[in-house]
Amino acid sequence: MNHKGPDSSAPVNRILRSSIVDGPGNRAVVFVQGCNFNCVYCHNPETIALCSACGICVSRCPAGALSAYNDKIIWEQKKCVLCDECIKICPHSSSPRVRVMNAHDVIAEIAPSLPFIRGITVSGGECTLYPNFLQELGKLAKENKKTFFLDTNGNYDFSANPELLSLCDGIMLDIKASPADGEKVTGQRDYNMFGTAEFLAGAGKLYEIRTVVSPGLFDAAALVDETCRRIAPINKSVQYKLIRYRPNGVRPSAASVLAAPEDLLMEKLAAICGGYGIKAVVV
Ligand code: SF4
Ligand code: SF4
Repeated sequence: MNHKGPDSSAPVNRILRSSIVDGPGNRAVVFVQGCNFNCVYCHNPETIALCSACGICVSRCPAGALSAYNDKIIWEQKKCVLCDECIKICPHSSSPRVRVMNAHDVIAEIAPSLPFIRGITVSGGECTLYPNFLQELGKLAKENKKTFFLDTNGNYDFSANPELLSLCDGIMLDIKASPADGEKVTGQRDYNMFGTAEFLAGAGKLYEIRTVVSPGLFDAAALVDETCRRIAPINKSVQYKLIRYRPNGVRPSAASVLAAPEDLLMEKLAAICGGYGIKAVVV
């Protein structure tokens, strides 16, 4: 799937003008649409696919905000009451509430917040599907004296894009499963998340590692240990966010089989990080 547009635009699912959980300080967050993973516990499954214009959601909109035209779905934002009916009914892990935006559009939308935020974070979906968009937004972030962070699944070769890397102040990287469990957890085979983590840590760009923990899905203790063993010798200032699996937003078919971890397991994982001198944050 290649969404890299020549005009440096990207499909944007939503923009938060202010968040304190997406990197350091108060930040604006851009959630792009489209992901090259299909994680079993995805908390925003409506951001995975681009709309195929199947039309199923159009007649379900109670506000008349959706219409089909020229093989596209038109979303009238002013009419939308954000009831989420279209997202619930979509059988394709998509959303009709997506806007194609360039970096200037994003800055214009968050302009009222610029005096109050420390930086801009791009999340998703998977933001690295749109490297041209990221580069343009990173440049505008710098022009506005804001830090620029990315939240990524790590299936991207940052070493091949030094210009983008130089614009990033920090990267939040998911370590989702060991290579053996990767396909079961993410739907993606053979991605080099340890290699990405080691490269970013060595480049001084790895701000945070994130792992979602659900007992029985994979051996979280082994994964956290392996990750810390690789990263600690390179850069101990990286923090490890250990995220309890929660069913909010998860597809019902997955939520019915996934379990939330007990405190004891999260404490054990935090202790593993501590043993390597890496700060753990349990959420
Ligand atoms: S959230 Fe979707 S279904 Fe609800 S009003 Fe908006 S477009 Fe229509
Ligand atoms: S959002 Fe989903 S249901 Fe609606 S037209 Fe697109 S693919 Fe079909």
